[in-house]
Amino acid sequence: MYNRRDLLRWGAAATAGLAATLVPARATAASPLRPAPAPPPVDEAAWRALGRALGPGADLYRPHGNAYTRLSTPWNLRYADVLPAGVVACATSADVQAALRWATAHGMPLAARSGGHNYAGYSTTTGLLISLRRIDGVRARDRRLLVGGGATNSDVYRARASGLYFPGGRCPGVGVAGLALGGGLGFNDRRWGLTCDRMVETEVVLADGSLVRASEREHADLWWACRGGAGGNFGINTSFVFDAVPVTDQTATVFDLTIDPRHAVAVMDAVQEILQQDRAGRFDCRIGFSRSGTDPASITLLGQYLGTEATTRHLLAPLLNLAPSRRFIEQRQFWSAQDYLMMRPERTAMISHSLMPGRWLPDRTVRTIAEAVTDWQPGGSGTGGYVTLFAMGGRVGDVAPRETAFAHRDATFVIDIGAEWTPATPRETARRLRRQAGAVYRRLRTELDTSSAYVNFPDPTLSDWARAYYGDNYQRLVRIKHRYDPDGVFRYGQSIGSSNR
Ligand SMILES: Cc1cc2nc3c(=O)[nH]c(=O)nc-3n(C[C@H](O)[C@H](O)[C@H](O)COP(=O)(O)OP(=O)(O)OC[C@H]3O[C@@H](n4cnc5c(N)ncnc54)[C@H](O)[C@@H]3O)c2cc1C
Repeated sequence: MYNRRDLLRWGAAATAGLAATLVPARATAASPLRPAPAPPPVDEAAWRALGRALGPGADLYRPHGNAYTRLSTPWNLRYADVLPAGVVACATSADVQAALRWATAHGMPLAARSGGHNYAGYSTTTGLLISLRRIDGVRARDRRLLVGGGATNSDVYRARASGLYFPGGRCPGVGVAGLALGGGLGFNDRRWGLTCDRMVETEVVLADGSLVRASEREHADLWWACRGGAGGNFGINTSFVFDAVPVTDQTATVFDLTIDPRHAVAVMDAVQEILQQDRAGRFDCRIGFSRSGTDPASITLLGQYLGTEATTRHLLAPLLNLAPSRRFIEQRQFWSAQDYLMMRPERTAMISHSLMPGRWLPDRTVRTIAEAVTDWQPGGSGTGGYVTLFAMGGRVGDVAPRETAFAHRDATFVIDIGAEWTPATPRETARRLRRQAGAVYRRLRTELDTSSAYVNFPDPTLSDWARAYYGDNYQRLVRIKHRYDPDGVFRYGQSIGSSNR
């Protein structure tokens, strides 16, 4: 996704100025693709009734005010103009049920939100925003972690005293719900599977307001769909149980190298060789080609090896010979390594296209990526373009494509091709950045001969999204959708079963 150097830089600015940037951002962020429809008129008495239906830990926020702004601003500021008529900050499943029943009774569109990090703004609505952020508990039971439907990666990391871990993402603010429901990749999936592969149970508030448990034994079709079928499709998940891994005695060596893009082919040759040899999935990484602001293009190799520094240095020797301008390799305890790998990006406006090739990248394609990023025309401060490759394989590929809703088990990488800009970036510059990302995407799609895409990096411009995200699993997902949400209460631009495909 992003160049780590930039993230650190922008992250620092964000910490200082996030609260201040939110309100002006609404006025200036590039608008979403289509104007959002206005919600039906609902009188004040009805809103008051909603407030009374909630439990003591929940709140209803109407437009304006700090809490409303904080809860309603999505991570991708491109969609910050889509303002909800009301936000319910739920504290329990019963609050979620009350909010959902109220919305359906009043014909009010709704969206659930956990971490709010959806790339395409699919947790925004002009109707009722149902926030689960207060349902953020994480506790251990035997070898399992019980996680609230609004917990984020950072909540899971805070519960590290249990010594238990399940593979998650690496951005503190990303919601476990959105992450797990769409798959969930990070620096541990090659060893322990995707986040969704570890989900053994989930509680879901369905479209009719009922609360059900989905697992191997109960509502097994819904459980299947919740493992890769993406959030916002079948109901609102208020809790999860994950099969966890004890990590107290686990060592991890982190590496963070920055290399000149003229060595791109050598870098990719070395990394692809390591990944092919690493059958145990101990090595995991992301390779970031990026160009941002006025910085020159660079390649960043960031990741970890679940083993010693000596072995890691041996594996990375061909890369260390390329004279990296940054070379950081350090053996740490597992949690300390995860802390290093966490990224803390500022909210930006952005677009992403993704590809999931079922083959290794040929030299020609690597050159295409390096040239595209080197030739990228930056748009000034806070803007950039990137092609990031997240290593897949290992345990991810041990699961059959139809065993869960996450179909693309043979992918070597998730390739994220994107551009980002700030609310202050002129519209024409933002358009140019988007055009550049689109051109790189189309070229890679042709060269790699695939349209498979990662549903957790949703792309509103994708016309064949049903096949791209879900492959052969799509029709089964449509049948499950009809069973659990026959009236399409959960709906967005690319929701399962929608006509827009
Ligand atoms: C900075 C950044 C870093 C990222 N890093 C990673 C990464 O390391 N690995 C990775 O795999 N992905 C990553 N992603 C992508 C991320 O997995 C998806 O954006 C994911 O959907 C975010 O989940 P969320 O809960 O934060 O999002 P939200 O925007 O809250 O929700 C996403 C979707 O799920 C629905 N939803 C939310 N909560 C619920 C719920 N409780 N029940 C049912 N539906 C719900 C929403 O309505 C929406 O459709 C990253 C994204 C960003 C912006």
